[in-house]
Amino acid sequence: MIFIGIDDTDSNKGMCTTYIAALLYEKLSKRYDVIEARLIRLNPNIPYKTRGNAAICLVLDNGCLNYVKDVTLEIVKRYSRIEDINTNPGIVIYEGDDIPKDFVDFYYKALREVVEISYAEFLLKKHNVLYYKIKNGRGIIGALAAIGADLRNKTFELIAYRKEENWGKPRKIDRKSVIMMDKKTFPFTFNNYDYENDRVLITPHTPCPILYGIRGVNPEILKLASEMIISYEEIERIMIYKTNQATDSHYLEISRIKDIKPYSSVKIRLKIIDNPKIIQGGHIIVKATDGYDVIYLAAYEPTKSFRKIIKELRANDEIIAYGSVKSYPNTINLEKIEILKLNRYKLENPRCPICNKKMESIGRGKGYRCRKCKTFSKEKVPVLIDRRIEEKVYQVPPSAMRHLSKPIILDII
Ligand code: ATP
Repeated sequence: MIFIGIDDTDSNKGMCTTYIAALLYEKLSKRYDVIEARLIRLNPNIPYKTRGNAAICLVLDNGCLNYVKDVTLEIVKRYSRIEDINTNPGIVIYEGDDIPKDFVDFYYKALREVVEISYAEFLLKKHNVLYYKIKNGRGIIGALAAIGADLRNKTFELIAYRKEENWGKPRKIDRKSVIMMDKKTFPFTFNNYDYENDRVLITPHTPCPILYGIRGVNPEILKLASEMIISYEEIERIMIYKTNQATDSHYLEISRIKDIKPYSSVKIRLKIIDNPKIIQGGHIIVKATDGYDVIYLAAYEPTKSFRKIIKELRANDEIIAYGSVKSYPNTINLEKIEILKLNRYKLENPRCPICNKKMESIGRGKGYRCRKCKTFSKEKVPVLIDRRIEEKVYQVPPSAMRHLSKPIILDII
């Protein structure tokens, strides 16, 4: 088999690495059996990314390595936006039937940490693999990671591309047809429409060649879903990619705050230690601990209704937080929260057994007394409070969801 990994070909002003994959697929499939096209998302917190930190990989059943190399180089060189200072294409071509464990480990590293170009190059040399760097060649990181990608958990994305004459122009997709498609195919397709903010989610807002992308769990349903979309512009081509999107695979499960690494995404069990605060901009911040150290959890304004959930947290609630750590090491930018145990009680002054009025404190640590009946009680009493959230998983709305985050519904189907 031949694995072709490509990354870092696009810029904010245009192009998309998946489009290069689509052109290469067209060319190579005339001669060979292209058995898989992969769209692999890597660390979403990486500073070098243009948008969604995506890399691609095409898998051929077999082929002539020289021809594959020439065609890949020709297409990447022709379509990459190398004039952009931040575009540093990388190509990796690996021939073999088994992917070395080193490459799978590298994939997980690139998914969850920051890796150096030199480390990718070290592994490529160690395994005697063909690779090409254009400019500083940072793209070899994504290219190698896409080849090593562990897709035991996977979803699919169907991408419809625009004709070149329409690139940069407003996309003309019938909104109602997107809603109808969503109603008919959800949850086998997901994140098509954000009902909370009334927004179509399948169309990007960049000048890239993508008209729309539909995500789902099954390629056949994706084809049906795509046929339901009414587009007022011609579709140039359609590709279906196998992806690691919506798999939660970016989270590193840790038990101590001190083990958080910069630019990582974590899953960690914590206890809330303070009532949430609303800060300027409508962001919600709440303090939590792992029993040793303290960290802030943030639900920022774009997470919309999710903030209402976070606002309801109280001291002593036990949770699992999922999110990315940007302002290392102090804040987890929440993407999802599992509420394990709600603190359903608060301590109040005891009531007088005779008149039922609340007793008054006599002084710190001295107990409580009813002014009228002179009854005495030593301690505060636990009182049941009404909680407006439940012990379950809550997630940000689709418009604020990361490509790698798994919609809760996928755990049910
Ligand atoms: P798009 O989503 O539009 O394809 P992008 O967001 O994928 O764009 P790129 O232009 O591909 O952005 O740039 C990301 C760069 O970061 C690539 O060079 C890639 O190799 C590199 N990269 C990816 N993951 C890591 C990582 N974990 N550590 C260091 N560099 C990384």
